[in-house]
Amino acid sequence: LPNHTAVVSHIAIDIGGSLAKLVYFSREAHSTEPGGRLNFISFETEHIDQCLEFIRHLNHKHQALNGGSRPGSPKTPGSPGGSSDLCVMATGGGAYKYYDMIREVLGVDVLREDEMECLIIGLDFFISEIPREVFTYSETDPMHFALPSDNVYPYLLVNIGSGVSFLKVTGPRNYQRVGGTSLGGGTLWGLLSLLTGARTFDEMLELASNGDNSKVDMLVGDIYGTDYGKIGLKSTTIASSFGKVFRMKRQAESEAEDSGGLGGAEHEDDEEHDPNDDNSSSSSAHDKRRPFSSADISRSLLYAISNNIGQIAFLQSQIHKLSHIYFGGSFIRGHTQTMNTLSYAIKFWSKGATQAYFLRHEGYLGAVGAFLKRQP
Ligand code: ADP
Repeated sequence: LPNHTAVVSHIAIDIGGSLAKLVYFSREAHSTEPGGRLNFISFETEHIDQCLEFIRHLNHKHQALNGGSRPGSPKTPGSPGGSSDLCVMATGGGAYKYYDMIREVLGVDVLREDEMECLIIGLDFFISEIPREVFTYSETDPMHFALPSDNVYPYLLVNIGSGVSFLKVTGPRNYQRVGGTSLGGGTLWGLLSLLTGARTFDEMLELASNGDNSKVDMLVGDIYGTDYGKIGLKSTTIASSFGKVFRMKRQAESEAEDSGGLGGAEHEDDEEHDPNDDNSSSSSAHDKRRPFSSADISRSLLYAISNNIGQIAFLQSQIHKLSHIYFGGSFIRGHTQTMNTLSYAIKFWSKGATQAYFLRHEGYLGAVGAFLKRQP
């Protein structure tokens, strides 16, 4: 929570399938300086009650510092707010799903805004108003703060949340959703919770950082024994994500049988990478014979999802003749392998003609957009 003298007057919340993102403005109650600060925080949508509790706290303080109506006292839903009332903007699917709940718990009116429109308003704000927010990524120059040198519009926004949306943006508040894929952040989150012992998304990203995808992915080199230069494929290019798993697993099993049981099984020790695996409900004696680790699986799936999105993003940019692509959504979470994969895919397929951009507050485009739609 902000410190006890901060006044919070304006809150926006973007409630998605996985995460509820909150943005609020606070300023020092007795400060003579103009301005204040924007604060960012997110909660799992499953724990929406905790998120609303957090907002209720902010509201209490707001009321106390403003000498407004009794904190938390519910007023008739729909009645216009008094001047000291907290302004709550909401967007995302949860703005509909939890509408009644939010109004009841907070006792304030809630203004709903369109999700896609909020995304691009948020992005436009970050591009035009916030220095050191937008950057390009490459292995040699990881976080290079830069904006397009030519016109901002048109551009492609790829929002990677639970699912993925592709938006063609031709001007301020002028956009069209041109595509989507259900293979997104929720897919990585869900599948890695089945396949590894990781319990949180950040644990999954940590695993991915330590993994070796060549243990599970079938590479061009695995098929050709070398590269396939004629069509521009390096021996390390992934030919089939997870394509080596079946063979490796069966090999390990038959070796285990030959040596008369589990004791002689050749397997990589998972514990080195992932101490959580031992506690995993899915960890059985069978799993322990796997010649690859949870980390290897995580890296492979992160690559698979990111490459797929990068490829679709490139194709969309070609179809719609867009040379700037912005990647947003909490899936990215500043993770270097994710950004490198997306960036590399765009650069590779476009032969350098199209530029991928990332944002420091990538998960908060929608929440910031909703925040800006009604300034107090
Ligand atoms: P949505 O609006 O659909 O909830 P987000 O842009 O918030 O989408 O992105 C959600 C995705 O972000 C998740 O599916 C997951 O891949 C990733 N993610 C990032 N941080 C977390 C986290 N702390 N908990 C769960 N998922 C997270």
